[in-house]
Amino acid sequence: MLDLIIRGGRVVTPEGVGELDVGIQGERIAAVALPGTLEVEAARTIDATGKVVLPGGIEPHTHIGIPVPREWSGIPDAMTQPPEAASRAAAFGGVTTFIDFAGELPITPGATPSTEPILQQLEDRKNVFTGHSYTDFAFHFIMAGNVPPNMIGEIGEAIQGGAASFKIFTTFHAARCPYGHLWAIFEQVAKHGGIMAVHAEDDDVVTYMTDKLVREGNDQGHNLHLVHNNISEDLAFRKILRLAKHTETGIYFVHTTAKEGVAAIAEARSQNMPVYGEALHNYLEFTCDDYKKPNGTAIHTYPAIKFADDRDALQQGLVDGPICTTATDEYTTHKDVKLWGNTIESVCGGHNGIETRMPVTYTKLVSTGRISLERFAAITSTNAAKILGMYPQKGAIAVGSDADIVLWDPDMKKRITLDDLHADSDYSIWDGFQCEGYPIMTILRGKVIVEDGKLAGSSSNGRWLSRKIAPGVLAQPMV
Ligand SMILES: [Zn+2]
Repeated sequence: MLDLIIRGGRVVTPEGVGELDVGIQGERIAAVALPGTLEVEAARTIDATGKVVLPGGIEPHTHIGIPVPREWSGIPDAMTQPPEAASRAAAFGGVTTFIDFAGELPITPGATPSTEPILQQLEDRKNVFTGHSYTDFAFHFIMAGNVPPNMIGEIGEAIQGGAASFKIFTTFHAARCPYGHLWAIFEQVAKHGGIMAVHAEDDDVVTYMTDKLVREGNDQGHNLHLVHNNISEDLAFRKILRLAKHTETGIYFVHTTAKEGVAAIAEARSQNMPVYGEALHNYLEFTCDDYKKPNGTAIHTYPAIKFADDRDALQQGLVDGPICTTATDEYTTHKDVKLWGNTIESVCGGHNGIETRMPVTYTKLVSTGRISLERFAAITSTNAAKILGMYPQKGAIAVGSDADIVLWDPDMKKRITLDDLHADSDYSIWDGFQCEGYPIMTILRGKVIVEDGKLAGSSSNGRWLSRKIAPGVLAQPMV
């Protein structure tokens, strides 16, 4: 007898979309079968008639439970929301796995990142989330600043230990990793089968424009896009790609923001380089004109939201390829912290987006007829699983995969209000956004964790995931 059967839904599988029944035994998918052919009993049957059955959402970019620098918050001890709150919001938004970060994010000028062994830092981070997450989780490892040689030497061991992806910054004060160090890091990551997650901006351009706007009295927050600008993304992406080509390293560009970034990724992929782009859902909706509205910098995530043609290029990139995933750069604070800084140097990055990513993406791209349900599953789940080393355990409705499933109501129309959301926050940039389609049930490894608008899971459910990237992902553009 199966534990659970989901009957009558339109199921998105690796083979396509079809009217199928999904059988679950324990934590795994045991059967995907034509209606009427799954003649076994189940402890529970869910009627999914009229609904879409999708692989559970994978959110590849979050910053949960970390200190907010005083330069952004004005107070000494602000933190982004803790794992319980973030994973609860995730579960309501159809997300069953997120990838956060281990290692420090030293945004404060002059900060010195920890030199604790990578595996120790990963272990410490696991301990912060274990027992406190409603969903599964993993961590990219941040390599910040002048990364010491002994830490670069630990990369192979960390990949063996399931870490798989390494985050670097080419700007951002103490987080900036110089290109010489990057060269050495890329070589180790490539050698051991990992992938680089890259925040690429040209530090010279960012520094020059910051100084210029301050000098000229134009350093208001609504000018962030003039600092973190298009030419900066163009230069930095291309420099990273040269290094990637030289070292034969796979690149995952986090938060692509400009048409120049999309073009650089597309060009690299046309040369068969294993390069993948990520877009944040606030970048699919807003433009830098919105910065000028009252409290307009609430929408800001670094680098910076740019122009209408950049937004359109990101959307098109999700439609036809170079942009492979959607993410949020989840960084949830309360409104007083988010809006405290009002200059190009003090605006707080990020927002509480983990719950809204899938419905916003669906509304903008599926309900408008621009992408298929298969592509929607790819850019909200499957591609992240493949690129970041979790496939086919995650990201697929297939026999043997974890039974991570979201039931989607394609007919539900919902105008988001703050009351609908479950983050530990008092604002949402999505307040008033009209969703055309919404998640109604979330299942994590066979266990229903959200149903009928209620939390049914426990914060002890979530588990850390060991990741290993398939060689094909690092050989050529696999998705
Ligand atoms: Zn980030």
